[in-house]
Amino acid sequence: MTMTAPTGKKRNAVATLATAPVRRKQPRQHKRPDPADLLAWYDRHRRVLPWRALPGAASDPYAVWLSEIMLQQTTVVAVAPYYAKFLARWPTVAALAAAPLDDILKMWAGLGYYARARNLHACARAVVERHGGRFPATPDALQTLPGIGGYTSAAIAAIAFDRPAVPVDGNVERVVTRLFALDEELPGAKPAIKALAAEIAPPQRHGDFAQALMDLGATVCTPRKPACVLCPWQAPCVARRQGTQDLFPRKAPKRAGKPRRGAAFVVLRGDELLVRTRPAKGLLGGMTEVPTTEWSATFDTDDALGFAPLKAAWRQRGERVTHVFTHFPLELVVYVARVPARTGPPDGMRFIPVREIAGEAFPNVMRKVLRVAGLHSE
Ligand code: SF4
Repeated sequence: MTMTAPTGKKRNAVATLATAPVRRKQPRQHKRPDPADLLAWYDRHRRVLPWRALPGAASDPYAVWLSEIMLQQTTVVAVAPYYAKFLARWPTVAALAAAPLDDILKMWAGLGYYARARNLHACARAVVERHGGRFPATPDALQTLPGIGGYTSAAIAAIAFDRPAVPVDGNVERVVTRLFALDEELPGAKPAIKALAAEIAPPQRHGDFAQALMDLGATVCTPRKPACVLCPWQAPCVARRQGTQDLFPRKAPKRAGKPRRGAAFVVLRGDELLVRTRPAKGLLGGMTEVPTTEWSATFDTDDALGFAPLKAAWRQRGERVTHVFTHFPLELVVYVARVPARTGPPDGMRFIPVREIAGEAFPNVMRKVLRVAGLHSE
């Protein structure tokens, strides 16, 4: 059997088939989140915050930086009174740079994560010494300053200088992973989240977009029961459509640190309290504390009095202090003793008037110790 050439009509049909686009079943196309929708929502619902410029007004880089450092690991409600106190006492970065570190630590006491307070001071000095008292405007230049990492540099660049940068914090991670139903687990998912956040950013209004994302995460796309009916991005949100909002962001299981134990010694000499200053570097660096033993997983509290700072009639308090640091939980046994007026402080320690406790740079764990010991503190 011989093959015959196709007729002209048939040839044309073959050619047409060969060049026609291949029709495949396409995945359902979802509408991309439009930044204009979020910005329009922000213009109506933006939060009023003490450090936030009014609509149309220029942001103060000092105010933006101060608030962003304070807000790391802390809530807006907790930060607001500290922000007001700092700004009233040190209204410019130059004033903060000229302040003694000890005054800053005292003002910071209670806000936690004390390395931030030391970096705050170092950063203020660097801005004055290296930049003539003006914050640089780009994320790269900002990251050369103490205490300013990737997130904070993007926040300052966007909010204070309207530079194209999207700061990605926990709120933004939640919004973005839900919008795209991103399956990858945190923390490994961070680069993907950043890339998606940059993809949906607008070509202008960078500061407003950054703050709008933060506000959406804080007020609408909340960790539990997000108010999707109020969300300007409900149409393109994949998790909302699937009803899987609660599953995002996905997180790798945390490895909790081993619990540590120790003892704290509250020594009273009349109306005075024995204290010392922690080493400048490390956990709670530069903060004030009552003497304690080491804090370790293997510490035996039965041996605690062998580490007391001086000989005295020690009385153990019934209540123990528990405190959770980022990397480990701590339990402290509290001992209290009164010593005669002639007792001098051991090396490296000092007595302070009890009435000055509130103004001392005691971290929260020490304030708990003082409360258990029956001393007043904030
Ligand atoms: Fe979050 Fe709901 Fe908005 Fe999706 S629709 S971004 S889950 S608030």
